[in-house]
Amino acid sequence: MALNTFTKAGFAAFRRGRSELRLRRRHCKGTKKYTMLSQAVKKRSEQLVRWGTGDLTGAHQKPLFGLDAAELAARMVEAGETPWRGRQLAEALYRQRIGELEAITTLPTLLRLRLADEGWVVGRPRIAEAFQSVDGTERYLVQCQDEQTVETVWMPEGDGGEAGDGSGQELVETDESGKRRQRATLCVSSQVGCAVNCQFCLTAKLGFQRNLTAGEIAGQVIAAFERHGIEVGRDRVNLVFMGMGEPFLNYDNFMGAVRLLVQEVELSPQRMTVSTSGIVPGIERFAQEPPEVRPKLAISLNAPNDAIRREIMPINRKWPIEAVMGAMHQVPLRPRERITFEYVLLGGVTDRPEDAIEVARLARKTGLPVKVNLIVWNPGPGIDYTMPQPRR
Ligand code: SF4
Repeated sequence: MALNTFTKAGFAAFRRGRSELRLRRRHCKGTKKYTMLSQAVKKRSEQLVRWGTGDLTGAHQKPLFGLDAAELAARMVEAGETPWRGRQLAEALYRQRIGELEAITTLPTLLRLRLADEGWVVGRPRIAEAFQSVDGTERYLVQCQDEQTVETVWMPEGDGGEAGDGSGQELVETDESGKRRQRATLCVSSQVGCAVNCQFCLTAKLGFQRNLTAGEIAGQVIAAFERHGIEVGRDRVNLVFMGMGEPFLNYDNFMGAVRLLVQEVELSPQRMTVSTSGIVPGIERFAQEPPEVRPKLAISLNAPNDAIRREIMPINRKWPIEAVMGAMHQVPLRPRERITFEYVLLGGVTDRPEDAIEVARLARKTGLPVKVNLIVWNPGPGIDYTMPQPRR
């Protein structure tokens, strides 16, 4: 279809969309995971803004968000445009973080009209609800185009500007204009629900619903950046792919999202960490990724030995600790890079002094630079564990 042959209906929808921005508030049912905070003391709903294109269900909408610059260029060429229009689109979607097609003013109006008429939308996931904790942590329900929601968690670091290293020193970093640099960690989901069935995890109770697309994974990051006014290059945000789902069971989309974030948003893969429950073929594949796009690796260990791990993580029956460690050795580490062992402390199950000694031995035995990240288990409904005593 040529540029100027959009239908009258499409044009009307475009005009309607401009004049009738719809404000809508959704109340979503939350799901909670052991890593997520339980102190939701303040609830803040964001209003959803949707540009009315005549199809509010999203069923026939084609998202541009999630396509990289080359794919966008290919779409533009298909539309009879020059490939650099794809570069303009990538700039608008990933650097300028524009959320509505009509607002991408670097594209000619007629082209935007035509894209809208063909069903193209930006289609970036949106924060539907936000829950804020007293320590500044924010938990978001991020809504995809099909209205499915996933959790994303924003954890500010250096609370109050403190160094966070026990020195009590103020560490307020500013840019040249005196603006304070933000520091935070963002926990991102890769699937809706999860099939891995770790016994201590609330997400496991949902079962596996579906994989997130690359755009839906990267979109959680952009939505949070937009909310906090993050400036890439100035602010320091670490990404951890440790939210809902097992990233290595959605490998292509997970790595697709990483590539978008590295190549289009210009984030460093060394500020990203992916956590796996121990999917050996996934770790082996990950080891082949070039360092320019390979995040750091974390293994969700959670137990000192196979006997305990089998009980709390059934996946261990398929890939026991030794197999996971073997695969882990294939990942070439960058200078000063370490592998993290995530370790959830379950009261009386994994938090005994002998467990600590066994974990330390295990870590040493790898012969790799490893650090252990202890996570206090958060209770959840229907999960039969207890929190560890503070002394433990
Ligand atoms: Fe939960 Fe385990 Fe799935 Fe992670 S891998 S989301 S801990 S069930």
